[in-house]
Amino acid sequence: MEEASNFIQDFIVEDLENKRYSKVNTRFPPEPNGYLHIGHAKSICINFGTALKFKGLCNLRFDDTNPTKEDVEYVDSIKEDVKWLGFDWEDREYYASDYYDLCYEFAEQLILADKAYICHLKGDEVSEYRGTLTSPGKDSPWRNRPKQESLEIFHKMKAGEIEEGEAFLRAKIDMASPNMNMRDPAIYRIKKTAHHRTGDKWVVYPMYDYAHPIGDWIEGITHSICTLEFEAHRPLYEWTLNEIKAIMNSGSYTPSQKMPDALPRQIEFARLNLTYTVMSKRLLRELVENNHVLGWDDPRMPTISGLRRRGYTPSSIREFAERIGVAKTDSVVDIQLLYFCIREELNKNAQRAMVVLDPLKVVITNWEDGKEDVFEAENNPENLEQGNRKIVFGKEIYIEREDFMENPPKKYFRLSPGAEVRLKGAYYIRCEKAIKDSNGNIVELHCVYDPESRGGETPDARKVKGTLHWVNCKTAVDIEARLFENLFTLENPVSIPEGKNYMDYVDKNSLIVKHAKAEPLLSNVKPYDRFQFLRHGYFCVDSKDTQKPVFNRIVGLKDTWGKLQAAGG
Ligand code: ATP
Ligand code: MG
Repeated sequence: MEEASNFIQDFIVEDLENKRYSKVNTRFPPEPNGYLHIGHAKSICINFGTALKFKGLCNLRFDDTNPTKEDVEYVDSIKEDVKWLGFDWEDREYYASDYYDLCYEFAEQLILADKAYICHLKGDEVSEYRGTLTSPGKDSPWRNRPKQESLEIFHKMKAGEIEEGEAFLRAKIDMASPNMNMRDPAIYRIKKTAHHRTGDKWVVYPMYDYAHPIGDWIEGITHSICTLEFEAHRPLYEWTLNEIKAIMNSGSYTPSQKMPDALPRQIEFARLNLTYTVMSKRLLRELVENNHVLGWDDPRMPTISGLRRRGYTPSSIREFAERIGVAKTDSVVDIQLLYFCIREELNKNAQRAMVVLDPLKVVITNWEDGKEDVFEAENNPENLEQGNRKIVFGKEIYIEREDFMENPPKKYFRLSPGAEVRLKGAYYIRCEKAIKDSNGNIVELHCVYDPESRGGETPDARKVKGTLHWVNCKTAVDIEARLFENLFTLENPVSIPEGKNYMDYVDKNSLIVKHAKAEPLLSNVKPYDRFQFLRHGYFCVDSKDTQKPVFNRIVGLKDTWGKLQAAGG
């Protein structure tokens, strides 16, 4: 037997030992009303990962019970994202709408067993009758109507003879239950809207809480893993299954489809929250619709498609999911942990490159016109197997504008008038003069090099502290580099101050575009190629804007997470 490594797996081990189930079958049940986000990635890793661990199966089930909000665009994106994360549902792609007939048939049986009835209360009346957390509800005037009457109306509802809001089917449970979800919840409502899969066939649709256990059961799901907010719905989940099973066991009814013997078990875990990020499709859609971002796959979005476009790898996201683990209480995870996971991975395998984001031209005045010098540079000092590449040095180069200061403070080790620095892998240069335009802006530096320092080696006892990256003007390629700040300035997205709206925290300057100069290596790239730009971080070639080379910064080099861990923080 597999050893459990979290509380979900503990339950599964127990269930297998007790022979409640002989194999494990989980499911990932997205509602196709938006693109998946990193919170869903956690759920995907738990559902598919748990199935893999126990050599079981995981189904993909679209919970398409709300015909008004759903779209095929979302179905397609969800499939792409799950596949990209590295998981395979094989031929087990299901839809809650596949089970509408079954749900309907069960609803008729519940009516006949006096476990459900048609109610005509209107919206606000329903709330009023439901009571509050501290006071019991009261029975609907239709609660005890004859079951034949309910059944007839239910049939009329299905036939389209009753208008929306005029009637609904509700479970007959307990209006005084301390659990509000058990106070005769609605299980079917009229909605005269076409559905993206069933078209005009239905004008009555089952509620999620009713359809979900039925979908789990017919698919032979053993462990229905979901987030904590469904904990209070678990009694209804179990009620639905147990009541239908009891009707079947009484022998009065045989379903049109063969139902598995074992009933599924619902297990809840804490949803993922990340600092500086919102994790709800509704809010993410708002960002897209109000043009705060370039789309669902904007690299600043916490969507899986956004993370992919930004340059995250599937393995880094799986690693992240592994590290955050599975808990039973809600918490907010530091986004630095996500950064840490991709940084760790790319440090090991990303090709290094020199890129100057804010170019300032340097002329080496004592360098012969037209002369070139070729150096070997390591493609990745962390992995020498990645070999070397040639870098050509010449009379004119670019350095970062921020690497020069005319009046530097003490301990500034970069370039300033009279100061000497090392150019990475090339030579020492000393600045002689800063050339300015008529507005006093520095447009060019004049420097001299020391021929004795070839390869960046110290020729004598001279101490040079600063090492600058550079790009040869003659062979430089123009690229666009996109740097990103967090989309939200709110650190803890779970506790939003009174009277404030999430949209108040959108950072309008979270996208910074740089027109950069890069070594020639970067002229020949394809979408999703990843690099470490020396001193700037990890970058990934954009997959959408391909008419020019665009690089998205995945993450900077500074590792605050790793440092915190090392410090025991
Ligand atoms: P949202 O509020 O973003 O729309 P949802 O829960 O309504 O999320 P669904 O499509 O219904 O989205 O979710 C599919 C599965 O993913 C569910 O099992 C849900 O519990 C899980 N899930 C959603 N958000 C998170 C999260 N932040 N962390 C972990 N799991 C999540
Ligand atoms: Mg939902």
